Amino acid sequence: MIVMKFGGTSVGSAERMQEVINLVQSAQQKGRQPVVVLSAMSGITNWLIEGAELALDRKLEEAVKVLDKIRDKHVDAINKLFSNGPRRAELMDTLNEKLDELLILYKGVAYLGELSKRSLDAISGFGELLSSAMVAAFAEEKGMNCKWLDARQMVITNENFGKAEPLWDKLIPLCKNKISPLLEKGAAVFTQGFIGSTDSGINTTLGRGGSDYSASIIGVALDADEIQIWTDVDGMMSADPRVVKEAKVLPEVSFQEASELAYFGAKVLHPMTIHPAVEKNIPVKILNTLNPTASGTIIKGTVTSGDDMIRAVAAKKNISAIYLSSPNMLMSHGYLAKVFEIFDRHKVAVDLISTSEVSIALTIDTTDKLDQLHQELAQCADVQVMREVSIVSVVGRQFRYQSGIAGKVFKALSDIPVLMISGGASDINLSFVVSADQSDRAVRQLHAEFFNASSTKSNNSLSA
Ligand code: ASP
Ligand code: MG
Repeated sequence: MIVMKFGGTSVGSAERMQEVINLVQSAQQKGRQPVVVLSAMSGITNWLIEGAELALDRKLEEAVKVLDKIRDKHVDAINKLFSNGPRRAELMDTLNEKLDELLILYKGVAYLGELSKRSLDAISGFGELLSSAMVAAFAEEKGMNCKWLDARQMVITNENFGKAEPLWDKLIPLCKNKISPLLEKGAAVFTQGFIGSTDSGINTTLGRGGSDYSASIIGVALDADEIQIWTDVDGMMSADPRVVKEAKVLPEVSFQEASELAYFGAKVLHPMTIHPAVEKNIPVKILNTLNPTASGTIIKGTVTSGDDMIRAVAAKKNISAIYLSSPNMLMSHGYLAKVFEIFDRHKVAVDLISTSEVSIALTIDTTDKLDQLHQELAQCADVQVMREVSIVSVVGRQFRYQSGIAGKVFKALSDIPVLMISGGASDINLSFVVSADQSDRAVRQLHAEFFNASSTKSNNSLSA
């Protein structure tokens, strides 16, 4: 069996939902036994949360307006998908029922003046219930053998509301008992991403963007052959296609590479959400609903094919670089600990670090606490801060065992000042800092250096 997960834009309109059904139907016809995990229609989860926050501010009228927007978006899709008939009527009833329930919840929030994470989980999960009801009803309308299941009766989690974690021992037998018999009878199963419930039946969510996590959890529980994440891009790419127009899709990416790349720009998915699947050796494929015949990217625990030294070039903007120097550092110990204690106390994560005997350079990706940090750091070092810099990263393979990579990197950057370098910490990443206005150029020049020269070679190795 396979899991097919469709994100918000893939179910964002009647047209997109039709495309989802076509894809599921064709998987079913090929005997792949699809379990379909659906997100809310795009924008709906944000609106549900916005309404709850308005209710908390006792702005109930405005919260009701948000509910109206939610109603309109769903009614519009229902009208396009269904002609007048019992299925349409049934869906309209479901929609009205859910919106009535939401209004009661909003009123509760307004009266109590309290919006706990637990209440917010009950509210923010409605989008998935609605989208999945619509898609499943449309599949029935098209004569598909299928069944809608409530994820909350299968995906059992702990009580960490807002970011719940799966309770594997509980959920595996439930997923198997509820889903497997249906698949064996040839039915496609439609369920929701993002939501679950505690053992005692209280609604939870897996955190924003959690539908990928749901797909991974259900795939692991059922020992899927493959987990497909259907989204609106062709897969993970060798660079951000908005910056480098020659950027190409990476056919295969290791989990570690996916994690390095996810930190930079184009976030196709949060790699931790598919970690359980990768650990169990279930391949995870990123596919594009808007371009379904493209082969996408496959993420695996380890990847052997392809011998490109460099896999991708990525950049992260809006970074601050902090330079510290102090004669006290000379031949002394404990100095780094003292500096990092300050970052720790302010809960600021440090990304790149580079040191010399009397200096430390590092980067952080927040500017909120910069002034405060500056003040405290100034008590133990001379401090210089550069705002608006970018980290540019080259992600590749076995850097520790290859020669010439740094040479090529810095040749490509020969006309761009490099403000900091960090390499060797990971075997697959070499990163450096440039000023923000040089960032796109650095990425383009690096991409040209590695990909134009090696394209023939990598194509050959991939088709071999
Ligand atoms: N609908 C949820 C969100 O917007 C979950 C998801 O789409 O993955 O965060
Ligand atoms: Mg998503």
